[in-house]
Amino acid sequence: MSMLAEGRPTKQEENLIMPDNNLPTTHTGNRALIVDEPLIFEIGSPARSGVDLPDAPDVESRLGGLDRSEPISVPGLSEAEAVRHYTRLSRQNYAIDVGLFPLGSCTMKHNPRLNEKMARLKGFADIHPLQPMETVQGALKTIYELADWLKKLTGMPAVAMSPKAGAHGELCGILAIRSALEARGDAREVILVPESAHGTNPATAAFAGYKVEDIPANDAGRVDLDALKARLGPDVAGVMITNPNTCGLFEPDMKAISDAVHDAGGLVYCDGANFNAIVGRVRPGDLGVDAMHINLHKTFSTPHGGGGPGSGPVVFSEALAPYAPLPFVEKREEDNHFYIVEEETAEDHHNSSFGRMVAFHGQMGMFTRALTYMLSHGADGLKQVAEDAVLNANYVLRSLEDVLDAPFGKSGPCMHEALFSDDGFANDLTTLDLAKGLIDEGYHPMTMYFPLVVHGAMLVEPTETESKAAVDQFIGALRSVAKRAKAGDELLKSAPHFAPRRRLDETLAARKPILTWSEPEEFAEAAE
Ligand SMILES: *Cc1c(COP(=O)(O)O)cnc(C)c1O
Repeated sequence: MSMLAEGRPTKQEENLIMPDNNLPTTHTGNRALIVDEPLIFEIGSPARSGVDLPDAPDVESRLGGLDRSEPISVPGLSEAEAVRHYTRLSRQNYAIDVGLFPLGSCTMKHNPRLNEKMARLKGFADIHPLQPMETVQGALKTIYELADWLKKLTGMPAVAMSPKAGAHGELCGILAIRSALEARGDAREVILVPESAHGTNPATAAFAGYKVEDIPANDAGRVDLDALKARLGPDVAGVMITNPNTCGLFEPDMKAISDAVHDAGGLVYCDGANFNAIVGRVRPGDLGVDAMHINLHKTFSTPHGGGGPGSGPVVFSEALAPYAPLPFVEKREEDNHFYIVEEETAEDHHNSSFGRMVAFHGQMGMFTRALTYMLSHGADGLKQVAEDAVLNANYVLRSLEDVLDAPFGKSGPCMHEALFSDDGFANDLTTLDLAKGLIDEGYHPMTMYFPLVVHGAMLVEPTETESKAAVDQFIGALRSVAKRAKAGDELLKSAPHFAPRRRLDETLAARKPILTWSEPEEFAEAAE
């Protein structure tokens, strides 16, 4: 299978521990059909070309003496070699279109192809934000309708569509909180954040100039309400609470938390990245939330991570609506005309706007996908999305709690993700070892070592789009690796055995990344 000359072993062969009798037979990794692929420069040769070009005619160059004097040094490949190279690389990708992607907190769900089709319509894909408004009425209507859905689903009166991702939405919400407090002459300096918060929460609060203080979690993995109440005071600007939280648990005291914070003169930010677990069932506006971002790219499909950008609209309560950022899309009732409001208005909303998050209106491609998702599911369908996400996660939780420690399993059902710890692993095996073992079973690992409140955390989010058969297959793979971790299986320490690469030096990769290819001498010589 080596593409390299002279029968040299490939990196894959060098790395491979050849299967022996001790190796479990449950592996589903498909090493046999995965070809280790060198860099394109390593397989290319200046002597080869994908096209037959006629010899250059012997006429005087029209380049005025700027003709190339050195070889161009790009790899020469035949057409078939070039196609195979990229196809093989693509087969080394793990993607939602290949299998279940259990990353907790990330909500890696299937993206209906219909969404992609809509986003590629010329009227959405080929427009420019500076185009005259009369020529983009359909796009503006899309933004307006999506905004309307978001307000209705959250029970909140205003929404800023422009933030470009969840963390950007957090910043938008916290800037609105700061503006509101400053407007009443009561600039405060502390934001309270639970221990289990997503890392972006404290980062956002600090970035906006606040001091960040932790609120402890209770034994059930929820915010400790008494500790929170005890800390509230005239210096606390607000809290940032994720609900459902990053342990995959609903915060049942959310309304009591909001009431206490409001009584103490603060405001409530809710991290709504996990809205997919409660959409259609719970309206954050009813829980006293003042600002919440929604990751369109998690709750309402749209590919993300390596697959595409995000979008993080922020909904606001009456108290914060005046401070919402510009611009926003409005509708003129007389003639159903949509237009972009670029300046503060006399209306209740946006009349004291803190400014702008971005130059234009937000992520049009994400808006189109999210609205398509909403319209094709309908309100009842979205409710079922949440119910199925919770059902799948609880199925994972209950199917594995006999082989993996579930620290909050006793405190009732989880929401959209199941949390396990490394308790009981033998022979110094770690969560990392288990995750590497899962790669040999053909799965991308779950989220590891997050949330920080659980030792060796493993956070599994199957999402609602997985069938029972797909979840069962994943559970089977994870069961087998979990049992090996508990039995202290030495082989896990060197897993993965069947992936094209083994354990990379992650520190070196982060500290001294080599991002460019430099021409080895023999290549340069060959070109001469
Ligand atoms: C994903 C996520 C974020 C950040 O969202 P980005 O779009 O990645 O910026 C914040 N909080 C929680 C709980 C998340 O899951």
